[in-house]
Amino acid sequence: MSAESKKAHNFIQSLIEDAIAKGDHTGKVVTRFPPEPNGYLHIGHAKSICLNFGIAETFGGECNLRFDDTNPEKEEQEYIDAIKRDVKWLGYDWADDVHFASDYFDTIHDFAVELIEKGKAYVCSLSAEEMTEYRGTLKEPGRNSPYRDRPVEENLQLFRDMRDGKFGNGELVLRAKIDMASPNINLRDPILYRIRYAEHHQTGNKWCIYPMYDFTHPISDAMEGITHSLCTLEFEDHRPLYDWVIDNISAPCKPRQIEFARLNLNYTVTSKRKLKRLVDEGYVDSWDDPRMPTISGMRRRGYTPESIRAFCDMIGVNKAGGTVDVGMLEHAIREDLNTRAPRAMCVMRPLKVVLTNYPEDSSETLELPVHPQNPDMGTREVSWTRELYIDREDFVEEPPRKWKRLAPDQAVRLRGGYVMTCREIVRDDSGDIVELRCEYDPNTLGVNPEGYKPNGVIHWVSATDSVEADINVYDRLFNHESPDSDKEGDFVDHINPESLVRLEKVRAEKSLGQPRADLPYQFEREGYFFFDEEASESGRLVFNRTVTLRDSWGKGKA
Ligand code: ATP
Ligand code: MG
Repeated sequence: MSAESKKAHNFIQSLIEDAIAKGDHTGKVVTRFPPEPNGYLHIGHAKSICLNFGIAETFGGECNLRFDDTNPEKEEQEYIDAIKRDVKWLGYDWADDVHFASDYFDTIHDFAVELIEKGKAYVCSLSAEEMTEYRGTLKEPGRNSPYRDRPVEENLQLFRDMRDGKFGNGELVLRAKIDMASPNINLRDPILYRIRYAEHHQTGNKWCIYPMYDFTHPISDAMEGITHSLCTLEFEDHRPLYDWVIDNISAPCKPRQIEFARLNLNYTVTSKRKLKRLVDEGYVDSWDDPRMPTISGMRRRGYTPESIRAFCDMIGVNKAGGTVDVGMLEHAIREDLNTRAPRAMCVMRPLKVVLTNYPEDSSETLELPVHPQNPDMGTREVSWTRELYIDREDFVEEPPRKWKRLAPDQAVRLRGGYVMTCREIVRDDSGDIVELRCEYDPNTLGVNPEGYKPNGVIHWVSATDSVEADINVYDRLFNHESPDSDKEGDFVDHINPESLVRLEKVRAEKSLGQPRADLPYQFEREGYFFFDEEASESGRLVFNRTVTLRDSWGKGKA
């Protein structure tokens, strides 16, 4: 099966294909990805990015990146820059320049005036509380505002005065005149514009009135010639308003809104507001903390763009909500790294081994494959010396049955090296084991020993020709399957206290002294680990654990 035919065919793609076949859709397919720059992008956004850019790619169309920036108080340039970086890193490029909803503030204003002139919008003086009261409920219709029938001229003047700063924050609003009895509350004369004295990151102090999202979005789509406006299901009930706006202004085209289900992942929160709290309140170090489900956090953790795109492909796109197992995301990165990650050895809990029958000042260089199944990836050099390190966990004094590692008077093979047998245990004053004295068998490099069978294969490094490193052992940030479902409690109560365990002074083979920064390594028998360039600026060599080799969540050792 080719990579292309493996790609899931989603319902939106089918809708567009049908429309093209019936002649209902002609011309280019144009989509957009419209983040609000009030936080960093997370894995949920990745689903939307893959969908929007993917649909455009499939139909030879275009996808715009547009910042939906109608809430100046919550938005920042830092977020804009991070979002651009993350979309590019995922492997997508937007058509021409980045767009901003604020680019259309003049146009949106003019459309508001058009609606007022047509008698389809009015300035309302009800207070926020009164407006809520007049709105009615799901069971009861709303009531008309006493300001609903203001004459057009008065509305135009008041709207001008709002714009010119003659009223205070929230004193007046502009509302669409639709239907206060509509069963759809979104159609009960929704607010189109509100007064906000706030400096905007793009338009500065030009405006003190800002359009609402529901008014801005259809207009921005229409101005960009968007054909398919894909959004998440919570906007389904807003679609009639979206269509009302397009139908009642002189829109240059008629985009179609199509909804799909949000991505929810267990053991994860994907709401920018909550992620911001984790950062602001210091539960994590930053938006790109490797435990965060942000694209930038995942990048630092060692996730590849390919693995995230493969994951989005795996979960598909549909109308039915639901929760995806985070294990699928971990599966996607394991699959990708298993075939591509260079191999290396790193001893996490070093225990010294002295090879008593190896000459004091001798050493040799062994050539090990970078990837055992892929000779094209070349070889790496590791030093075999008289003093080595193995992992403390690979030795026990009294081995259980079927023990596959080192024990007194037993032999193991050191991966890529020789077979050795443990002869003596050296202890310190308090009785702790500090060294093993072993004999190596010089006739076992790449061949089986004669007359005996080693117990297994363990990893190792030279004690005298290796490098020291620190490891951030990351685990899931939450230990509750749905951290934010608990209505009484607070999602931060479910933070996994062991989401970061730091191992210092581990020993890594010398090739890791100049680590690759483009792909994580597979540290043999330990998992996948990614060089942390930023953390290593301090002079320490730091690696982040991307994921374990196998899914061991909830099975004792992570
Ligand atoms: P958040 O709740 O995290 O703030 P949002 O929907 O407000 O999310 P936006 O910046 O407005 O965030 O989203 C940009 C686009 O990404 C929107 O089209 C939105 O529907 C989509 N999106 C956001 N979260 C998800 C998700 N979990 N799954 C799929 N798409 C999402
Ligand atoms: Mg939003």
